[in-house]
Amino acid sequence: MGEIINVKDIVEKRKILIRERIEKLKREKDIIPKLAVIIANSEEASRVYVGRKRKMCETLGILEEEYEFSEDITTEDVLREINRLNNDDTVNGILVQLPLFKHLDTSKILKAVLPTKDVDGFHPENFGNLIQGNGKIAPCTPKGVMTILKEIGANIEGKDAVVVGRSVIVGRPMAAMLTNAGATVTICHSKTKDLTNHTKRADILIVAVGVPHLIKENMVKENSIVIDIGINKVDGKLVGDVDTENVVKIAKSVTPVPGGVGLTTVHTLIENLMDLTEAV
Ligand code: NAP
Repeated sequence: MGEIINVKDIVEKRKILIRERIEKLKREKDIIPKLAVIIANSEEASRVYVGRKRKMCETLGILEEEYEFSEDITTEDVLREINRLNNDDTVNGILVQLPLFKHLDTSKILKAVLPTKDVDGFHPENFGNLIQGNGKIAPCTPKGVMTILKEIGANIEGKDAVVVGRSVIVGRPMAAMLTNAGATVTICHSKTKDLTNHTKRADILIVAVGVPHLIKENMVKENSIVIDIGINKVDGKLVGDVDTENVVKIAKSVTPVPGGVGLTTVHTLIENLMDLTEAV
């Protein structure tokens, strides 16, 4: 029987490190980091995510400003606001809360954020640096997974890692980070033939799909590490992409949902903000 990874403890430990960095910045450079958040959608879930980020900023004493737009906004209006924030020296990080209203040009808007203020790590320049193996700013969810792996003392080098899901914000950067850390990485997706054949040989299995309990106990390797990124609502309850209760009987360690990777995502955003602020 394996263990459920205690992600809450990991995040609490990392928060202490962030507080130390914030205090050092204040002491040595008299800077308090500031995050600007662009909200241009009407989705309830986005409000919840922004609320979590706001709360984390408040807890840590980080400045946070929100710029909320109504549906009649144009791409040009958003670009103008981003340009203003790019030129505001008091703003250290700009976050564009996704998804945007459908009529807006998401790609153009994400590219407009200066790479030096790109707190989400979505700018092609930061993404390119990540692929080249020298990027510090990376998308928050996969970067948070790397923190979990580090904190549980996972040995990544030379291991077989399988990432299920190839989205630009999760699966692809996750695979790049594991490659940079020395794993042999396979990426699976909806067109993959015989998924079990791949997942079953993974020493480290990362699942970011959005299908409740896709990964069953017969699909994982004994003593493996299984990281569940998926968040799905089933009968009003949050469940992951992994059948945790049964998979933990085979694997060595499994992250829970809720209370797993999601906790590290917001915290990693603040780590990115600190990296950007300290580089000023
Ligand atoms: P996405 O953009 O919808 O990508 C899903 C990926 O899963 C795609 O690559 C898709 O393949 C693949 N896929 C779909 N069905 C599959 C199947 N039956 N077998 C194998 N692969 C399959 O989703 P995402 O944004 O990456 O998010 C994935 C999950 O993570 C969602 O549940 C989301 O809510 C969650 N999430 C959690 C956090 C967090 O903080 N914990 C953050 C972000 C996302 P194709 O490319 O072929 O379509």
